[in-house]
Amino acid sequence: MEKDNIDILEVKSTESKEKSLCFISPCLNEEENLEVLYNRLTSVRNDLHKEHNLESRIFFIDDGSTDQTWDIIQKLAKKDPTVQGLKLSRNFGKENALLAGYENAPESDFYLTLDADLQDDPSVVGKLVSKAFEGYQIVYAQRASRLDAAWYIFCTQIFYKIIQMGSKVKFPENVSDFYLITEKVRKAFLQMQESVRYTRGLVFYTGFSRAGVQYNRPDRNAGTSKFNFVKLTIFMLDAVTSFTSLPVHLISIAGLLLSIFSFILGVFYVLFSLFTKNAIPGWASMMSVSLFLGSVQILMVGVLAEYISRMSQELKSRPKYFVDEKL
Ligand code: UDP
Ligand code: MG
Repeated sequence: MEKDNIDILEVKSTESKEKSLCFISPCLNEEENLEVLYNRLTSVRNDLHKEHNLESRIFFIDDGSTDQTWDIIQKLAKKDPTVQGLKLSRNFGKENALLAGYENAPESDFYLTLDADLQDDPSVVGKLVSKAFEGYQIVYAQRASRLDAAWYIFCTQIFYKIIQMGSKVKFPENVSDFYLITEKVRKAFLQMQESVRYTRGLVFYTGFSRAGVQYNRPDRNAGTSKFNFVKLTIFMLDAVTSFTSLPVHLISIAGLLLSIFSFILGVFYVLFSLFTKNAIPGWASMMSVSLFLGSVQILMVGVLAEYISRMSQELKSRPKYFVDEKL
């Protein structure tokens, strides 16, 4: 009788074993958003505890903010021991801030990255966690619709197509850095120590089981976006060059086709001037051909240079960030 009771107790204790989740949020000048985010997460965390017996912590990474961000993180950490913070010595960019987050986060069963500006809607967190409890190792939030400008949507479509064509991993579209991963995925992610980091690409590259949850991405709560056209272009180039060599192959193919084309054209011109009396040198057509070839060459050299510059960055293999303070 007594033994039966112990068995039941044991079964119960494994069923309701407390699991842990760590929120990781990179922040660059987010003073207006941090407290709002903290309050929104607090109610989400209470629900998670009730529903899944999930204990959680928040880990803020201050990526070189010049406003009150770090003071606010310190204040929150003082008030609430489940809040931790890491201050980087300067701005290292979101991808490195995320890496710092994964490397320094308290060990947990799950990690959930989300932007500090509340665009990664905390009310979606519950759905992500439920999927994780179903056994998926990567659970990502996926934008159901995009409200961005038409040119931006067009560029991202091309971007996804290029990455997709050139790499063997299938990347889901319209996903930002709003996903949950398990400890196993984090360990795999941290094994990839390259300098040029396209975080979400690396996460999906690990190939562990995954599921998506649809959501509507809201606007920023306050402040302005930290990404401009140039930063976004570099980000996309980083992503493309770190996941596919297709542009280089396209260059070789284009180079081959163009040389065949120019050879035929050359033969044609020679024959034309040999067999006709009116071979007037067409200045305009010559100019356009040479301009075209010139610009194609610059473009090709440019693509090669993109890969070479990233190779030199990898060769230096410098630390990707420096920690100033840890709470
Ligand atoms: N961020 C960062 N370092 C940077 C740029 C951005 O930590 O160099 C953070 C930023 O504080 C925010 C998240 O990354 O929490 C996303 O940035 P943002 O909202 O500016 O990007 P967008 O949503 O406009 O793509
Ligand atoms: Mg944002």
